[in-house]
Amino acid sequence: MSLKMHRDIVESIERGDAGELGMGDAFNFECDDRCMGRCCNTIKIMLDPWDVEVMARHLGMTGKDFLEKYCEIEEDPYTKWPYVKLFDAERGPCAFMLEGGRCAVYPARSRNCRTYPVGRAVRFTPDGGKEEKYFMVEKQSFCFGHGSARQWTLKEWLDDAGSLEYYNRSDIYFELIDYVSGVLESRRWMNERIARMIMPFLYGPEVLRAKMGIPVEDVGHEEFYIRRIKALKVFLAELAAGFGFGPLVKDDEGEREDFNLMDRVKGILVTEEDS
Ligand code: SF4
Ligand code: SF4
Repeated sequence: MSLKMHRDIVESIERGDAGELGMGDAFNFECDDRCMGRCCNTIKIMLDPWDVEVMARHLGMTGKDFLEKYCEIEEDPYTKWPYVKLFDAERGPCAFMLEGGRCAVYPARSRNCRTYPVGRAVRFTPDGGKEEKYFMVEKQSFCFGHGSARQWTLKEWLDDAGSLEYYNRSDIYFELIDYVSGVLESRRWMNERIARMIMPFLYGPEVLRAKMGIPVEDVGHEEFYIRRIKALKVFLAELAAGFGFGPLVKDDEGEREDFNLMDRVKGILVTEEDS
């Protein structure tokens, strides 16, 4: 989901045009053999860095190879942020759909695949908090799942799909995008070259591990994901300042200490500390 779609959804919930779901609210849904997998033929599945990492590891691939084989990049026209989506699912059938509609990467399926038909929009507040809203994604005429007798509360549905871990990881990523597009005004300076530069931070953990000499035994996958996003935030804040945007722009009175940006980024990746 692009940032703009995300924003539109939060606004429509706030206007009362879209029904918001609470954790105890119940709905009926279960996948039905009659339509198994039709959703995986025409749907746009946006992938977060954590989705790509989990799916790539499940398939024994690098994130870079996974992107090349299964994904395409879509630039958000509003923020210029480079989003990744599964190209096969949109043009159908999804590369991971087995005969009969089952999913070949089911235990590692993406956040959006595992939470459908529930959607979630999150907004980050200036005090560092966040507000989240859950809603039912618009019903598709071909989907029989809504007619099922199986009833769930929202909490049961999310727990069953192991969604909260994915939401927590994706919030770290969306908070970065929120900062880069809002505070750093990425639409004014993001371009294809910069988008290529940030790809290893987002989708190529193995590239950074090899470059920096950080084995998984020393820094586990989840911790390294958090460090990559943190390092990228520092990197982009400095880059934006070079273009004249964001809080780090030097003014006549506020000279900032010189430092080596790449050493600082490396420090975060290796030790988690920002020097
Ligand atoms: S019931 Fe709906 S969500 Fe489930 S496989 Fe069919 S189309 Fe997809
Ligand atoms: S990854 Fe699995 S669940 Fe997601 S679109 Fe592809 S086949 Fe469907």
